[in-house]
Amino acid sequence: MLETEYQNGLDAARVMDHQDELSHFRNQFHLPIQPNGKPYVYLCGNSLGLQPKTTAAALQQELLDWKNLGVEGHFHAKNPWMPYHEFLTQAMAKVVGAKPEEVVVMNTLTVNLHFMMVSFYQPKGQRNKIVIEADAFPSDKYAAESQIKFHGLNPKECLIELKAREGEVCLRAEDIQEVISKQGDEVALILLGNTNYYTGQYFDIKQITEWGHAKGCFVGFDCAHGAGNMPLNLHNSGCDFAVWCNYKYLNSGPGGMGGAFVHQRHHQNKSLPRFTGWWGHNKDTRFKMRDAFDPIPTTEAWQLSNPPILAMASVWSSLKIFEEAGMDRLRKKAIRLTGYLEFLVKSLGDDIINIITPSDPAQRGSQLSIQVKQADKTLFNKITEDGVIADWREPDVIRVAPVPMYNSYEDVFNFYSILKSALNEKG
Ligand SMILES: *Cc1c(COP(=O)(O)O)cnc(C)c1O
Repeated sequence: MLETEYQNGLDAARVMDHQDELSHFRNQFHLPIQPNGKPYVYLCGNSLGLQPKTTAAALQQELLDWKNLGVEGHFHAKNPWMPYHEFLTQAMAKVVGAKPEEVVVMNTLTVNLHFMMVSFYQPKGQRNKIVIEADAFPSDKYAAESQIKFHGLNPKECLIELKAREGEVCLRAEDIQEVISKQGDEVALILLGNTNYYTGQYFDIKQITEWGHAKGCFVGFDCAHGAGNMPLNLHNSGCDFAVWCNYKYLNSGPGGMGGAFVHQRHHQNKSLPRFTGWWGHNKDTRFKMRDAFDPIPTTEAWQLSNPPILAMASVWSSLKIFEEAGMDRLRKKAIRLTGYLEFLVKSLGDDIINIITPSDPAQRGSQLSIQVKQADKTLFNKITEDGVIADWREPDVIRVAPVPMYNSYEDVFNFYSILKSALNEKG
């Protein structure tokens, strides 16, 4: 979409809000309130999404059924706990672009990453390496290193780190391709964050999967910053697995449950290594308790425990709102909203700011990572005092994510004018 018609000014922002067919969703969320009684300009939905107003009642329902029914709630609760996770599957699958049988909400993100690596990191002979971003989220790197050690190998030899070129922050697709084509024969698993948490750069899942598969590697993605942010089309992209959390763009609350995708081509493969538990066992015979493990022929086979219903109720109440809004409409608004943020921030001048996130909307989601030249944390503290919740990364980067679900164009304008006056004061 070409956006040449952006205008600076509060009135222009309000006109865009007025034209926004998703603007009413803001009212379905609790906005954190400043000491002065006004809502914060909340631009941190990439770290922790806001609480839907329906979540408290959803949790209350489960507490009530537990109170009144005890164990009978497994079958007789308003939303019976036995099949509870299945209630989330359709909506979750839509958010990440998968078939319902390919996704499951379970555990938390890093836990799911480990379970997926048990299945998809199978080092054999020379093919024993994992490709990862040099600036991957720390948890992902720790998980990959520990998996390598678990197989008796050395992370120094078995982790291939993708680094940006000298003087650049984002990775170039052609450099990723080159590493895969040169070293692919030694690679057991390619594991990338599909949207980098630091730069906001989006990687083309389909393209990278094709490069990896051509070399016989498994390819998986950490979609923590992608799920609910970008249309991921996991099924069509063909990647082997993906994992994500539901508490960033997907608003399920602090420490909320994660999700996992396993492509259907692996569902019938009984030789794939897997750590198992009773919730992955054939539902018809699960309670006989004595049968040999008989995996459900879907991604549900990777479930271990009976799920935490309270945590799941919270994910579900958010997914219902995503079903209503739809990823296509959210993405359309995100492109315009983030483009507006870019337009305003750029007007502050190249000598003061540098946006490290790619300028091509196809290579980013909602987040912009704004490097402020010669700034330190006092600038960030100032904008926080003035009512902005964003994220600071040392030494000089402010990460902001206007989230199309609940952020307005007015939020974006307010952030810009607060940043501008903080910069003026700094002189
Ligand atoms: C947020 C995030 C995590 C956090 O993992 P948890 O297991 O949910 O604590 C891990 N990896 C990436 C890429 C993230 O963005």
